[in-house]
Amino acid sequence: MHQHSLRQLSALLQSKQISATELAQHYLHRIEGNRYNAFTHVDHTMTLAQAANADQRLAQGTANALTGIPIAHKDIFVTRGWRSTAGSKMLANYVSPFDAAVVERFNQAGMVTLGKLNCDEFAMGSANENSHFGAVKNPWDTSAVPGGSSGGSAAAIAARLAPAVTGTDTGGSIRQPAAFCGVTGIKPTYGSVSRYGMIAFASSLDQGGPMARSAEDCALLLNAMVGFDERDSTCVERATEDFSRDLNQSLQGLKIGVPREFFGAGLADDVAQAVRAALSEYEKLGATLVDISLPKTELSIPVYYIIAPAEASSNLSRFDGVRYGHRAAEYKDLNDMYRKSRTEGFGDEVKRRILTGAYVLSHGYYDAYYLQAQKIRRLIAQDFQAAFTQCDVIMGPVAPTVAWDLGDKSDDPVANYLADIFTLSTSLAGLPGMSIPCGFGQGEKNSKRPVGLQIIGNYFAEAKLLNVAHQFQQATDWHTKAPE
Ligand code: GLN
Repeated sequence: MHQHSLRQLSALLQSKQISATELAQHYLHRIEGNRYNAFTHVDHTMTLAQAANADQRLAQGTANALTGIPIAHKDIFVTRGWRSTAGSKMLANYVSPFDAAVVERFNQAGMVTLGKLNCDEFAMGSANENSHFGAVKNPWDTSAVPGGSSGGSAAAIAARLAPAVTGTDTGGSIRQPAAFCGVTGIKPTYGSVSRYGMIAFASSLDQGGPMARSAEDCALLLNAMVGFDERDSTCVERATEDFSRDLNQSLQGLKIGVPREFFGAGLADDVAQAVRAALSEYEKLGATLVDISLPKTELSIPVYYIIAPAEASSNLSRFDGVRYGHRAAEYKDLNDMYRKSRTEGFGDEVKRRILTGAYVLSHGYYDAYYLQAQKIRRLIAQDFQAAFTQCDVIMGPVAPTVAWDLGDKSDDPVANYLADIFTLSTSLAGLPGMSIPCGFGQGEKNSKRPVGLQIIGNYFAEAKLLNVAHQFQQATDWHTKAPE
């Protein structure tokens, strides 16, 4: 049952061959033991209550394509009833009084929540080793990281612990874990998905999106996820779209931009090979490859690691031990309470970013760092617009290597930052990007570790990206492969 697509599951539910309750029980059973540490909170009673509701809707004929299908949420989306921790000790026992807009939308569709998924603390990380609840393991090779920050989300799809999950992507956190775990994920155009109730990291970059096994599944999920929300001031008001509408369009004549800068010295051979093979497959499907340049790719690392921490230092000032979250047990006065609560509640990477952010925003440094980074951010976005005059979509690797070993880079923040090189520019420009499985590379000790192909589109070109991904998935079977 856990190998079925969302469409197949939906058909089984609608025709009453299975009930939502049976389906939920099947997945709850698979989750038992939490093998990869993918989940932070599971609650059978709440899941089964939602499943019973879905069954009622299915019986009454008020169901839609997603009713009764299980989903799990990255623990960065707040949820009523379930703990909402953001992977942090700061929020380890926090239960939100309301649902995030994304959760609300999936609940309204009648989807059944399986639980909350582990992630890097406040979504800061590339390996899911920064979680207060421990690292997540990659189901393909448990000595490897699953990628981050949506590591629990990607691992849950790869291990078939959930047929659908949510993730968030600030600088690559949907695409990179999807690549490392061999699953499909899409980060939509900035502003498409409401950030209301998504615990904030860097507000000008944060964007929610779905992860699943295929582009077809992601399209269905995106249909429910995207929509205007007046509670998020950066949410875009646009006509409702059916993201599945173009899935079956032919790719004859498609122009694929291949950025030179994505195939330079730092790219591992096994990743380059798998990505090149995917590009050849696209040529067979009728596409042509166009050599393009995104000259500021390297600058995306310093630019992102100035802007994101700057916004984080501001966003995380709300965790002061007063309103919510961890409060130190003993303190002398108010300042001491702030200091101790924050010292105890935040992990190392979060502290590093708060300090960096406060520094680049401070008087005397603001012009040299923050303002400069904002200017280059604009230039990065312009490079993409120049590229899109030559091509319809851009393709390249998601990350320079396959998943690395757990512990390998955990003491080296810069090594983690450098591995984000191919995903950051898309986020800085606010463009939509996808990752789809396209082969395998070599892990240490000769294990197989998945490689992701990144597909980047112009603003609001999600339906096109999903079409391009789906056609590849019709012609190949990488996305159907599962770890043993
Ligand atoms: N790896 C990047 C970071 O650590 C991106 C994280 C994200 O997209 N949430 O900030």
